[in-house]
Amino acid sequence: MLNKRLALQAIGASLCGLMLNWPCGPLAGAELPDTVNVSLLEAYPQISSIKLQGPLQIIYPVSRRLGGQAYLATTRHGLIVIRPTSTAKAVFQASRVILRHPQDSPIAVQAQTLAIRKYPGQLSLRTNAKGQLQIVNRLGSRRYVALVVASETLSGWPNEALKAQAVLTQTRLSRYRKGDALGDSTQQEAYLGSTHQRTEVERAVNAVWGQTLTYRGQPVTPFYHANCAGHTSDGRYFNPQKNLPWLSPVRCPYCRNAPFYVPTQTTIPKSAFENTFGAGPPQILQRDEAGRPTAIRSGNGQAMSGYAFWLKLGQRFGWGKAPGTRFSIRQLPNGDYAVRSTGAGHGVGLCQWGAAGMAHAGKSYREILHFYFPKAQLTGRHSTQATPSHSSF
Ligand SMILES: [Zn+2]
Repeated sequence: MLNKRLALQAIGASLCGLMLNWPCGPLAGAELPDTVNVSLLEAYPQISSIKLQGPLQIIYPVSRRLGGQAYLATTRHGLIVIRPTSTAKAVFQASRVILRHPQDSPIAVQAQTLAIRKYPGQLSLRTNAKGQLQIVNRLGSRRYVALVVASETLSGWPNEALKAQAVLTQTRLSRYRKGDALGDSTQQEAYLGSTHQRTEVERAVNAVWGQTLTYRGQPVTPFYHANCAGHTSDGRYFNPQKNLPWLSPVRCPYCRNAPFYVPTQTTIPKSAFENTFGAGPPQILQRDEAGRPTAIRSGNGQAMSGYAFWLKLGQRFGWGKAPGTRFSIRQLPNGDYAVRSTGAGHGVGLCQWGAAGMAHAGKSYREILHFYFPKAQLTGRHSTQATPSHSSF
């Protein structure tokens, strides 16, 4: 069942859709690519070696079969060196190596102490200028969408909510240009490989494949978050100077069952808090109509947006201190700081727990998307129509 621990994982999704580095130029149509490249383990840039489970088929720079044992791929002097974990003797080395599983099964990868992840398609290994390992996974885009949706949703999520989520991922993918490398962290959307594969997600993706959200003919930036706790904010929450017209604030009565709908109350020790923000509770200068702080002056006199403050709070003290952006902070008699927040994630765009609530209430994915993005259009191949079309839901 969907519990608080899993919901906390889903806060990652609150950061999804930010796509801070994503190009936003005009695009013709919303064709999805056949394959995508995904940079793996981007949240762990210091990694210089990984374990790979054989058998493996090297396909570049030469064709070479490696048997069914565990291997270590390490960077050394600009090269990728591959050796069995059982011996120090290298069996292959090159400046760049591309490999796949001989039977096209997913390849099991383990980095440091992280859980084993399995990746379908091809893996490209090379080093960067700092000697760190760069791993790029090339796979079919439909499978990529299914694995992202599986990574970003919880087991038991209803079908129509999965379809809505798939449309959002496809919308992001419609901006993909050949040669780009997507990321695998919540800076864009989480992609955790095929260990998270779920049949019902694949069915949902197949049902809406090719459909995207557009505004005036262009794909929108499909923001979403875990749980708005009653009201979403508009796009100006991120930047008051930048209106994103497809993002309208909506009152959301559908996420009441979310674990973070009720306030989260935590404390931060006085010295740690004041080292970051200065002495005294931050002054909230302005809130938006959803109740999220939009302008704050911290104790050290620094003025910043509510979103920038929330990001700093999360990065410095952990996302569990204020899972949601509708927060307040006060100083306790003992000098420590009490933090109270509702919701989980930034609160802009689609509310994932609300989408699940709408689906449980019998709403279709089109109704879900229209509710959270009322000014956007659903574009693409609709399952009931043979030709590409546009729909205002
Ligand atoms: Zn909501």
